[in-house]
Amino acid sequence: MRDLSAVELLTAWDRALGQSSMQQALVLLAAVYPEHSMGQLGQWSVGRRDACLLTLRERLFGSQLNGVTVCPQCRQRIELAFNVSDIRVGPTMADPIVPVDEVMTLTAGGYRVQFRLPNTLDLEAIEASADVNQMREQLLHRCITSVVWEKAEKGDGEPVNNPTPLPMTLVDAIVACMAEADAQADTRLALSCPDCNHEWFSTFDIATYLAGEIHSWAKYILREIHSLARVYGWREADILTMTPRRRRAYLELLENG
Ligand SMILES: [Zn+2]
Repeated sequence: MRDLSAVELLTAWDRALGQSSMQQALVLLAAVYPEHSMGQLGQWSVGRRDACLLTLRERLFGSQLNGVTVCPQCRQRIELAFNVSDIRVGPTMADPIVPVDEVMTLTAGGYRVQFRLPNTLDLEAIEASADVNQMREQLLHRCITSVVWEKAEKGDGEPVNNPTPLPMTLVDAIVACMAEADAQADTRLALSCPDCNHEWFSTFDIATYLAGEIHSWAKYILREIHSLARVYGWREADILTMTPRRRRAYLELLENG
């Protein structure tokens, strides 16, 4: 992972603007991993993608994260402050734990199922549906590459061309196997309400979080560029190469007349 300059980050923000959070994540990763195409990055497992986005977030804005949630029991608004290390699974995971296209095998209930881990392209393909079970079914349909029922009446086992419907216990086992192999894909925060002591887990999506932060940063930095360029006539690229401290120093001089 390479570091991004302010110019490069602003360019990435511009490229990603108006796109889905999935696409925005890929644009960001393409900026820090120029050796990979967008298509290749789209095939990284969701856990690997999110592990890289967490590392990128640390490099851009530090390791402290903030958010707001609502207690599902008493509806109290709760401000959250946590660290990247609180939600990171394992080491920094910039390198893949499971290589792209690695086929995993699960044998259970007389079935032998081969599958790969869900990736960003899969999530994008199923994004339209609001039904969780339907989304899970679509996702599995994309990721399961073969199903063999080893208790077939004839022979040692015949490939089942249409993998659905699979027994629910088998589906649960596949999902559990995917979650274990790609744990960062389902990042959760353990929360407790200071008012009613209710405890629950909340999903944290680094792709959406980071896209929002970069959007806020871009709007802030564009205002600074606007203020300085208007007065001094400096070029955008020149203003962006200044340190934030120097930009602020000039802006304070302007404010003080
Ligand atoms: Zn509460």
